[in-house]
Amino acid sequence: MNPFQFTRVSTPKAAIAAVTKESGTYFLAGGTNLIDLVKREVIIPERLVDINKLPLATIEKTATGIRIGAMAKNSAVADHELVKKHFPLLSMALNAGASAQLRNMATVGGNMMQRTRCSYFYDTSMPCNKRGPVQSGPDKGQPNGPTGCRAIGGSNRMHAIFGASGKCIAVHPSDMCIALAALDATVNISGPKGDRSVPFSEFHRLPGDMPQKDNTLAPGELIMSVDVPTNAFSEHSYYLKVRDRASYAFALVSVGVGISMKGKTIQDIRLAMGGVAHKPWRLKEAEQFLKGKEATEANFKQAAKLTMTGAKGYGENDFKLTLAPNSIVEALQVATKTA
Ligand code: SF4
Repeated sequence: MNPFQFTRVSTPKAAIAAVTKESGTYFLAGGTNLIDLVKREVIIPERLVDINKLPLATIEKTATGIRIGAMAKNSAVADHELVKKHFPLLSMALNAGASAQLRNMATVGGNMMQRTRCSYFYDTSMPCNKRGPVQSGPDKGQPNGPTGCRAIGGSNRMHAIFGASGKCIAVHPSDMCIALAALDATVNISGPKGDRSVPFSEFHRLPGDMPQKDNTLAPGELIMSVDVPTNAFSEHSYYLKVRDRASYAFALVSVGVGISMKGKTIQDIRLAMGGVAHKPWRLKEAEQFLKGKEATEANFKQAAKLTMTGAKGYGENDFKLTLAPNSIVEALQVATKTA
């Protein structure tokens, strides 16, 4: 491991100033992904800024819903009474992620910032466009390892079927983010140029020609909190995660769904998928189709079919072209029965 400086800060202002001042500086929260990246030299930091003392771990009711601080631990959010009662989709998605130990360390902001688990990304001897240039040391500014995308034509069983590019076909690994995208959350950000808020669905980005950039944060910006608006989905929410083993595995495909119903009719619905794209994949066309319709298997199958427009497999992951629509149907069936 390469030596790096370590700084601990206690205010957001100091954290932003520390990261803005020098390149090669990273915020350190729970460290459940960052430390892996440092150990494997996927990133070579000049300095880590420990933000664990920032007063950003509160979970509170607001006039329009709930505000979750960026430093709130995943387990604290999943177990919070307000979240369990009013946002069960978020609680289910969080509990589907990682392991109990990791959920006790990982923060909400860190969960949003975690990098893909594409195995080539973590192996610096392999071609990968996502690693991008090294931020420090004698190779500063040079790509960290060979460029290209080894997953295209390689081992791509876990990879994207939507929104990929010729430069990268990786998927976003978070479960929590699928729920937050489905629930129309907003991300509150502070940075050297001031404060701003972005819709959750616009926080992460597709790979395009810049796969090294996972999200729309500008340099030095810090996630402060996430707002989740009140909804009427608490009786009909479900997070389905299809994975290789029952615990501590990333999603092959996941589906987050929240529904409000009147009798058998779907009044309102939110749907998003994980394990299929470089960002949480919101299924707006299917939502539009299902609004006002009866909760029947035929309607669910039609909605699932609509979502598959533009889907593309890369060989080993072709099974997702069948698994994805089947998972949508199953998630909808379970959600509409959880009264
Ligand atoms: Fe790298 Fe993305 Fe290709 Fe994986 S899919 S090897 S992360 S460029």
